[in-house]
Amino acid sequence: MSVFDNSEYDNHEQVLFCRDREAGLFAIIAIHDTTLGPAAGGCRMWPYASVNDAVTDVLRLSQAMSYKNALAGLPLGGGKSVIIGDPNKEKNEKLLTSFARFVQRLGGQYYTAEDIGIGINDVEVLARESDYVFGLATTGDPSPFTARGCFEGIRAAVKHKLNRSSLDGLKVAVQGVGNVGRFVCKILNEAGAELIIADVNPEAVAYAVENFGAKVVAPDEIYSQDVDIFSPCAIGGVLNEETIPQLKTSIIAGVANNQLAEGRHDQLLHDRGILYAPDYVINAGGMLNASGDIFGKYNVNQVMERVTGLYHATLRIFEMAQQEGRLASEVADDLARQKIAAGRASKE
Ligand code: NAD
Repeated sequence: MSVFDNSEYDNHEQVLFCRDREAGLFAIIAIHDTTLGPAAGGCRMWPYASVNDAVTDVLRLSQAMSYKNALAGLPLGGGKSVIIGDPNKEKNEKLLTSFARFVQRLGGQYYTAEDIGIGINDVEVLARESDYVFGLATTGDPSPFTARGCFEGIRAAVKHKLNRSSLDGLKVAVQGVGNVGRFVCKILNEAGAELIIADVNPEAVAYAVENFGAKVVAPDEIYSQDVDIFSPCAIGGVLNEETIPQLKTSIIAGVANNQLAEGRHDQLLHDRGILYAPDYVINAGGMLNASGDIFGKYNVNQVMERVTGLYHATLRIFEMAQQEGRLASEVADDLARQKIAAGRASKE
């Protein structure tokens, strides 16, 4: 199957296959749209089962970055990259340096950063070889900002669906308590929510139990918890035909990218009375923070103001969806596409 036949191909501007046998690198960089500015989005390292799986992931993730950046009001386009391989076994300086050279050769059309499998230290290695890297020590760990934005998205969903302004006493199931999930738990705990968590990493679980008094369930039991909010903070594709019937929640709001296995799954959620907060809307906090590296100016107070603004942005999407009888994910996609189209029109 060619890239052009892939169901996630959305007129992406460029898809670059990067191969360096000596360094053991096989990576793909997808630039979805650069209308609003250079494409920006992290690099994921993952042991994909096939090249097709990697292509599908990078196409989908890069499109989501265009929409995320557009809705966050950033003068950036959407791009993403994936390195095929197991970060625990195959990641090393030579491989990262080789990848950074491919990024550098794009001459600023694409800026890269961290994502799953690529940590903050790895990003510093990339930055030694390329000028087009963000999420550096200057702006620091994006995770607390992503978590804060997610919390604002949860608050908006609670306001819209449950007509409540406080999260005190609400039950939240958090799937994945890694870099971001852990901060989501911290903020929810401070807001008085009761936490039920699941993670495949015992250390991550122990941290959340010890610090936030979370109750633990097995990873495959997290979907069927009787809660007010389900917050996917681990991996993509978790909302699908198998998991949706198990859900006993009225709200889904989390940070994981591409939570819906397919776009049509939002309709299944809606049919079950579940409000889904579009992932790329409420997980933009980290991008709002890290993009300071691209623009060469950084003010943490201004970033925080924009991150907390995600409450109103998300609420507006829910209200528009209700008024127009549409899904929140459709409204968000349309708003993002309109912003990109307006940017294109202003250039013509
Ligand atoms: P992370 O790798 O630090 O944390 C993910 C956690 O999920 C890990 O603890 C892992 O053990 C756990 N996990 C993996 N598979 C699981 C499963 N099947 N069930 C339960 N737990 C599982 O990653 P992160 O930086 O916290 O990011 C989490 C998600 O949020 C990712 O999808 C990422 O793309 C997205 N995201 C992150 C940021 C950011 O600022 N880091 C920004 C936007 C979106």
